[in-house]
Amino acid sequence: MINKLHPRYPQSYLTHFINDFTKEQITLLFETISKINEEPEQADNKLYFWNLCAKFMLDTFLDDIKYLKSDIYDLCNITAEYTGKSRLHFLDNIRKSFYMGMVFNCGSGISIGEAENSKIFVSSPLGNDEIIDCVYTDTILEFIYYEFHTVLKNNLPIKLCKNCNLPFVPKGRVDSLYCERTVPGLKDKCSVVGANNTYKSNLSDTETEFYAARRRYNTRVSRNPLLKTEFEVWKIKTKEKLTAYRNGKISADEFKNWFMDDEWTKI
Ligand SMILES: [Zn+2]
Repeated sequence: MINKLHPRYPQSYLTHFINDFTKEQITLLFETISKINEEPEQADNKLYFWNLCAKFMLDTFLDDIKYLKSDIYDLCNITAEYTGKSRLHFLDNIRKSFYMGMVFNCGSGISIGEAENSKIFVSSPLGNDEIIDCVYTDTILEFIYYEFHTVLKNNLPIKLCKNCNLPFVPKGRVDSLYCERTVPGLKDKCSVVGANNTYKSNLSDTETEFYAARRRYNTRVSRNPLLKTEFEVWKIKTKEKLTAYRNGKISADEFKNWFMDDEWTKI
């Protein structure tokens, strides 16, 4: 199917393509392929399929990606002196000429609907036959380069995520510090992890100790349901004490003595 859709990928590439993937990735790809076979008219499935391929292939399959990545990292450190496409001046001459010599096969086409989570591909909602600008690409690489050009052309900022240290184009506010990727091995996105870290670093040591104590009590109560009512009462008092501490009405020591006192758990 890949060969039929993209004749530039020969059969031998396909073996290589499969070799680099894990069993889970291949399963996911095949599930998507069968969905496409069932409903060939569904553009959403095809987009999702290419999204997956691009995601799985980037690090292993295409050598060009290494150069592109290094260019993108260079552009993350750019000063305000260059904007838009002029940011290419920041690269060395060989890379700059490489990008400047690029030609894309652009034209018009029927909109395939709204792109999810994308600030780069702006399209109209599904179901309307609007004719929009489009680009025809034969390879994923060409598509990625087009995307890169679009980011530069539209003067979108390219930033380094403060959590995973990977480049990203902020989806919402331009001053976002964190990307929307899911942190490897965790359930949360960098933006969520980042917000929690900022919250924690803003907490005083006393508050950090307080939250640790509350977690300890919570564990005790879950092991001994008889403490549940007492715990609810404690939590209500907690709110008052925390506010009093934050407003400077009681000292850190006073607050600490209060929440470290675990007499109420010994009934
Ligand atoms: Zn990130």
